Amino acid sequence: MTPYYRVGHGFDVHRFRRGRKFILGGVRIPHAFGLEGHSDADVLIHALMNALLGAMGKGDIGIHFPDTDSRYKGISSERLLARVLRMVDQEGLGLMNGDITLIAEKPRLAPFFPEIKKNLSRLLKVPPSRLNIKAVTTEGLGWAGEGRGIAATAVVLLRRKRRG
Ligand code: MG
Repeated sequence: MTPYYRVGHGFDVHRFRRGRKFILGGVRIPHAFGLEGHSDADVLIHALMNALLGAMGKGDIGIHFPDTDSRYKGISSERLLARVLRMVDQEGLGLMNGDITLIAEKPRLAPFFPEIKKNLSRLLKVPPSRLNIKAVTTEGLGWAGEGRGIAATAVVLLRRKRRG
């Protein structure tokens, strides 16, 4: 039987590219650059899905949604997250809480956290109080510090649902 608690960690990076939309946690962020990727490149939701898959012991999004598959080209990461959440449910697990850290020098992301949290709460079907989003810079160091891209990490705790 699935253990009572399962913890998972996820990580993802996407580079900025001019002419792309910048979608973070399903929310459009106004910025001169968007994120490059096969899907909508929502780095936050990708890290979150990797954490959920990790908690289930089911690999990562590259295995489940390969970027060589044209079905996933330009796809909304919200749709991929919905599939991962179905897997969580099928495993008899439910999300307890999630903690997400964004690593980005610019733009300033904190003003968008309430909207992102509200959207994630809707997608994950948990109250906003069970979700945390924060951001750090790298003090100008490296590719993140140069504003060339964004990284995201996520930690989730899943709990086995009571039966009957
Ligand atoms: Mg990704």
